[in-house]
Order: sequence, then structure tokens, then C-alpha cells
Amino acid sequence: MAQTYYEVLGVEKNASADEIKKAYRKLAIKYHPDKNPGNKEAEEKFKEVSLAYEVLSNPDKRRQYDQFGHDAYTSSSHGGGGADFRHAQDIFSQFFGGAGGFEDLFGAFGGGRRNYNGPVDGNDLRYDLEIDFEDAVYGADREITIPRMENCPECSGSGCEKGTSKKRCTRCGGTGQQTIAQGFFSMRQPCSACGGTGEVIEKPCHHCRGRGQVRKERSFQLHIQPGVDNGTRLRVPGKGEAGIRGGQPGDLYVFISVRESEIFDRNGNDLLCELPVSFVCCTLGGVVDVPTISGKTKMRIPAGTQSGSILRLKGKGMPSLRGGSRGDLHVRIVVETPAHLSKEQQKLLEAFAETLTEQNHPRQKNYTEKAGNFLREDKE
Ligand SMILES: [Zn+2]
Ligand SMILES: [Zn+2]
Repeated sequence: MAQTYYEVLGVEKNASADEIKKAYRKLAIKYHPDKNPGNKEAEEKFKEVSLAYEVLSNPDKRRQYDQFGHDAYTSSSHGGGGADFRHAQDIFSQFFGGAGGFEDLFGAFGGGRRNYNGPVDGNDLRYDLEIDFEDAVYGADREITIPRMENCPECSGSGCEKGTSKKRCTRCGGTGQQTIAQGFFSMRQPCSACGGTGEVIEKPCHHCRGRGQVRKERSFQLHIQPGVDNGTRLRVPGKGEAGIRGGQPGDLYVFISVRESEIFDRNGNDLLCELPVSFVCCTLGGVVDVPTISGKTKMRIPAGTQSGSILRLKGKGMPSLRGGSRGDLHVRIVVETPAHLSKEQQKLLEAFAETLTEQNHPRQKNYTEKAGNFLREDKE
């Protein structure tokens, strides 16, 4: 039978949180793989004590553990089998403070030491660009100007005044690390004098004051393809900020917002416009001019077209940004009631109205039937 977590840590079942902590600290250091290179048994022990500590140091987990017992607890999803080495290391580094210096408690602990001397890639930049609807339709070329960090032209990014170079840091002897004693540990941290680079600038460049980079306004030609929409993101590779110590430059991202059109509403690549049409044309049918983004086009209005009808013009919508087919143009017909009639026109309309029958207004007839009860005499 497996040892209980209390036995693993060598504490009593009623041990205080403090006692558990102390026991773990002692055992974790004793069995840590960096102190026992190649010793599988120690590694197993290390995993075991880490897991035991993880459970017993958490009041909730400890309560469940006590309640269900060791075997039931570890065979449930709460902790069984999860004690891989990485996890044990995480527990360990959390316990000892986690950040920075403790990673180097035993030298190359954890394998992922930060390299302070290596190249650092430049930041990406964002630029918000508002364009007219027409630009989204036809595409456009724009010059945009952004401030960004670039390598200093005086020192080519080294930060050193012309004719001078970096010197080995005397504080850390060029290692970039400094050792700090804390309790019975000694731990290593990035050197505070050189920031972990191992080198110091003796005479800073007068232009960038030793930063190696300067802020500069840069202008770019930006080509906007037909079909861009609100929220389209254009990536301009390598036009972000300069990298440090040979790192790659970042990218520039241009976020597009498109001003609204007075005529067209956009839905994806489809467009919608409203078209006022005379009631005579809608009644008798006819041909009207319709505005499209490629110019006016003729459209047939079928006789008896009602207000609100939508007619579709295929392929007259927005061009597709990704090279697909164009969207459609949906034309919503709005019947325009004639205004400012002359006396003669009024008479003609009245004479016309005399001739109307139920047949001429099938919708009204239909509506009257549906509204039924709601159209009886109002008694109130
Ligand atoms: Zn140093
Ligand atoms: Zn400089």
C-alpha cells in the first residue's frame, strides 16, 4: 500500500500548515533532481513530496483527502497520476517564490533561463485608418505616417558613442548574473549593473543616449484593395518597430474603418439601396435608372410592384477582397406618392378613383377579412 501524503512528508495527521511547509521545504531541497543528477529514485521522491505538499497545503484539497482517504482521493481526478516532473517543478518554484532568481537556485534549473544577451524582436504597431466608402469600392493608395522606434543611425543600434565600444561589466565579470545570499540559499539574478547583458556602455551615444534606438516618424505607401470592409486588418510585414541586438522587426497592422455611404448599406459583399419610384411606374411597369458602384444601370420594374419590394441585381455588389465573385445589389422599391398636384391632376385622379373596384386592391380586401372583428363599429 502506498504511503499517505502525511507519511511522505513525515508529519502527523494533525500537522499545522507551518509544519507541512517546513517538511516540504526540507524534502524538496533534499530530493531536488539538480542535487541528485541521474538519480531516478530521488526524482520519484521529489515528485511525491511535491504532490503531497500540493494537496496538504490547500485546505480544500486537504479536507477532501482526509475525508475520502488516500486511495480514493488519488484514484479520483483530484490528484492521481498528475505528478509529472514539470508539475512538481511548478509547485517547487511557486513555493520558493517562483519569479526570476529562484529559477537559478541550482544553476540551470527548469531549462528555460531567460537570455538577456540574445536578440529581442521589435514590437508590432497598430495604425487606425478611416477611409471613404468609395475607397473601399475602388481601392486606394494612401500615405500613412507613424512614429516608431528605429535603430539609432549614429551608433547603428549599439548605444555606444562613435569610436567606443561596450566594455565587460565589472560587477558580474561579464556573466550577466549576480549571486545573492538569502537565508541558507544563494541565488542568482540578472546583474543589476548591466541588466543581465554582461556588458556596459562606457560612453553612451549622444544621439540616442545609449538606448540604441530613436523614435522616428516614418511614412509608408499603403495600397488598399477594393472590397475592404470595416474591421479589415492589413498586415505590413517588417514595418513595425526595430528589433534589438539583431532581433526581427515587428509588423505594422493597419485597421480599416469605412465611412458610411449615403446611398448604399453594406452587408458583407452585398449592398442595399432604396429607390424612390413613381406610383404610375410601379403600377404600369417600366424601366428606371439604378445607381450601382460601377455606374448607373437600367432595371425593369414589373407592373404591380409594391412599395417595399426588393429587386436583386446580381453581381452589382462589392468586389470580393479574397478574389471571389462580387456581391449583389438589392434595390428596395419605395413608391413615391405624388405631391403638389395641380387642379387638373386632382380631377384626373378623382375620375380614376371612381373607376376602382375591389379587384384593383386585393390586399385591402384580404386585410379587411383578416382584421375582421377589429374593424367593427367602435362602441366607445
Ligand atoms: Zn553585470
Ligand atoms: Zn545611438
